[in-house]
Amino acid sequence: MKYVDEFRDAATTHKLAAELRRVTTRPWTLMEVCGGQTHAIMRFGLDELLPPGIELVHGPGCPVCVTPVELIDKALALAARPEVIFCSFGDMLRVPGSQGDLLDVKAKGGDVRMLYSPLDALQLARRHRDREVVFFGVGFETTAPATALAVHRARVEGLTNFSLLGAHVLVPPALRALLEAPDNRVQGFLAAGHVCAVMGFREYLPLARRYRVPIVVTGFEPLDILQGVLMCVCQLEAGRHEVENAYTRSVQYEGNRGAQRVMAEVFRVVPRAWRGIGAIAESGLGLSPAYAAFDAEQRFGLGAITSEESPDCRSGQVLTGVIEPTACPAFGGRCTPEAPLGAPMVSSEGTCAAYYSYRRFGTARAESERANARRPA
Ligand code: SF4
Repeated sequence: MKYVDEFRDAATTHKLAAELRRVTTRPWTLMEVCGGQTHAIMRFGLDELLPPGIELVHGPGCPVCVTPVELIDKALALAARPEVIFCSFGDMLRVPGSQGDLLDVKAKGGDVRMLYSPLDALQLARRHRDREVVFFGVGFETTAPATALAVHRARVEGLTNFSLLGAHVLVPPALRALLEAPDNRVQGFLAAGHVCAVMGFREYLPLARRYRVPIVVTGFEPLDILQGVLMCVCQLEAGRHEVENAYTRSVQYEGNRGAQRVMAEVFRVVPRAWRGIGAIAESGLGLSPAYAAFDAEQRFGLGAITSEESPDCRSGQVLTGVIEPTACPAFGGRCTPEAPLGAPMVSSEGTCAAYYSYRRFGTARAESERANARRPA
């Protein structure tokens, strides 16, 4: 498949790994920010190709995983209301709140629907004028433009039965919080390519400068990731701390201006709590005053719902790269994809799910894909 197969080429993978071994003289700790990158690293065994001392730690770039339990509980309360059609992406339906998940609500008769786009929720609102359609908008800068577009269209069309339960978050403030944490050991970042496809990468320049940390915009295939690691290590070895783009086939410096415009029109930057991590200033997107009528929290008076994180789930440490999932006592026992205790075991981008799928209980397919990626041509 074009743009996939050539970026999984085993011979080039091994050339990059050899070059990485050649340039590395010291240990370095890098963080891949995105859960999609974490899954690719696990699936193809890329960490096993790295020279000794190069450590990849996994970042908070799984939007489902960082959605706070309080918002999940608000979603559960809304979905249980008889007048509501509650819609979200598939992963969100299985993320546990304090009292079960959205699929439990659906099993008890709630009208919970899995959608692929917020625009599909808008279509439901047009078709069911007698019902309240609520879209649970989750994601980083990648999915926020589509949510913004749906809310914008609802306003233009005068759809009064559509609203948003918003959980969109921003990547750069999370990197800043990680860099300021006292236990931070990350020396370089592989930034998530799809976020930069929307936002460009100018926002990273002040971070790289202030914290003297290289940031390389990186894609999601094996060659993309090894190229990102190589560029990051070359900077560290040379004492540089710049923002570089290793994903030029998708990312331009300015990003997608149209997507940025609709986000700026509909959203404003707000503080946001991240599951397992806590509040991060200026890290979320809330509806701007002109769109406040579409805020489901206000429309349905959900402000009183407050919740506590489960003490059994160590997702905060997993999401900040402090521990690997296998260090969580619940991993693979009390917490599995079939019976998850925390969101990182549910999401297709979750770090715990990646370890479970490709490392501790590797499938024959996963093992074969990893072997192919490692095999010299
Ligand atoms: S293994 Fe389960 S309980 Fe442990 S950190 Fe991951 S999601 Fe949470």
